[in-house]
Amino acid sequence: MAMSMPKISSCEVTDCSYNSDKKCHTMAITVGDQSCAMCDTFTKMSKKGGDIGVTGAVGACRADNCKYNKSLECTAGNIMVGMHSSHADCKTFSAR
Ligand code: SF4
Ligand code: SF4
Repeated sequence: MAMSMPKISSCEVTDCSYNSDKKCHTMAITVGDQSCAMCDTFTKMSKKGGDIGVTGAVGACRADNCKYNKSLECTAGNIMVGMHSSHADCKTFSAR
């Protein structure tokens, strides 16, 4: 069966351009780098972005050490994003 993109149920990072009312409004984020499950799509600009009618989803995730990661994609039902060490991280991350 084809995979579907997990929705972002909430995001605490209110200074991101894609955040309104603690929800993400870009079509899809990319998560993860070599060291942690950070939201690579975090954007800090004076301008707001995304579409208020859209609930953001996970497009791709490079956090291969998360138990929800399969073939560098996220298989969680949905995820939450929050602050960690002054950057945005996937709080649903769970080490294998
Ligand atoms: S999930 Fe990422 S892109 Fe979306 S609002 Fe939060 S920090 Fe911004
Ligand atoms: S739950 Fe795991 S696989 Fe899904 S986006 Fe977060 S870190 Fe990536």
